Amino acid sequence: MKIPYGKQWILEEDIEKVTDILKSNYLTTGPAVKDFEKAFAEYVGAKYAIAVANGTAALHLAAKALGVQAGSDIITTPMSFAATSNCVLYNSGNPIFADITERGLIDPFEIEKNLTEKTEGIIPVHYMGLPSELEEISKIAKENNLFIIEDACHSIGAKYKKSSIGDCKFSDLAVFSFHPVKHITTGEGGIITTNNEELFSLLQDLRTHGITKDNSKFKTKHNEPWYQEMQHLGYNYRLTDIQAALGLSQLSKIDQFIKRRREIAAIYFEFFMDFEDSVETIPEREHEFHAYHLFVIKLKDSMKREELFNYLQKRGVYCQVHYIPIYWHPYYRELGFKEKLCPKTEDFYERIISLPMYPALTVEELDYVLSSLKKFFK
Ligand SMILES: *Cc1c(COP(=O)(O)O)cnc(C)c1O
Repeated sequence: MKIPYGKQWILEEDIEKVTDILKSNYLTTGPAVKDFEKAFAEYVGAKYAIAVANGTAALHLAAKALGVQAGSDIITTPMSFAATSNCVLYNSGNPIFADITERGLIDPFEIEKNLTEKTEGIIPVHYMGLPSELEEISKIAKENNLFIIEDACHSIGAKYKKSSIGDCKFSDLAVFSFHPVKHITTGEGGIITTNNEELFSLLQDLRTHGITKDNSKFKTKHNEPWYQEMQHLGYNYRLTDIQAALGLSQLSKIDQFIKRRREIAAIYFEFFMDFEDSVETIPEREHEFHAYHLFVIKLKDSMKREELFNYLQKRGVYCQVHYIPIYWHPYYRELGFKEKLCPKTEDFYERIISLPMYPALTVEELDYVLSSLKKFFK
């Protein structure tokens, strides 16, 4: 038996949608991308969506579109994947790490503590699939004239108060990933959502080299039918139609996927009620709807974490730890970040482990995971 912490669920119908595209006229920049963008925007409740090559590209373009440059201080969380803060570095800005709460999410109070004259934006991460404190964070942003990019790579389908993550009610842009371990997959892929027409238009150009063919946007008057202008230093961050067709087919099953993730979570919660002395869980609160990209447990005794990890691995259960604090990585240390910068993040990191959580996890596999956990904690 080999059970990972997360994996995709591809059905025959997904494969058919992909092969349809392979037989069509457009493998890229065709209609499937637009269809996927429209369906995704509708699903999260945003006006616009821009599909890109992956979640990291989405973050890169989002930060660029909002003007991150040398001298920009951007506040974010160290309890995330490195891409979250790397996007600030790609644009020559400075990531500033604010500490987290005991639930693993960026603490609005710590954001305020880190504000300076140079702060230009905040990138909260809806870690595990739990929404960050968007109301408090957007209040801080409004008072200090800061942008917000939501790193929503864990949280398709999550809700906060009456808002769906990605509807950008509290932010300028939200960013998603379609890597195979995420809720839906396109192999590699990502998307940015927004309600801001100007950002939408800019992001569309940045995705294809900063080149526009829209004559209403031209800076110089030209009437030749082939004329186009490169106005920004953009990239080739396009998603192919092959991927978009897979994404659209996967998106049609998202509610089912999330329902199954939440059922698995409920089973874990009930299981861990018998082990409250050893394990803490992180349930959703009343105003939250958890999308469960990850199921993270916190061990009361951090000394047991590695033992548990190895024990499960020996039994074929391949857990993971999400995440090593970003600024611990040698690249960040060389930039001058020091240990103990965010003590609550470091304490959290020492205790956590992500258990298998994905809709294709079978009842037998889940039982096997639970019986393995039981043997360990008994
Ligand atoms: C997956 C992920 C990313 C990056 O997405 P890719 O599609 O792998 O580039 C960024 N941030 C977070 C929090 C993620 O989980």
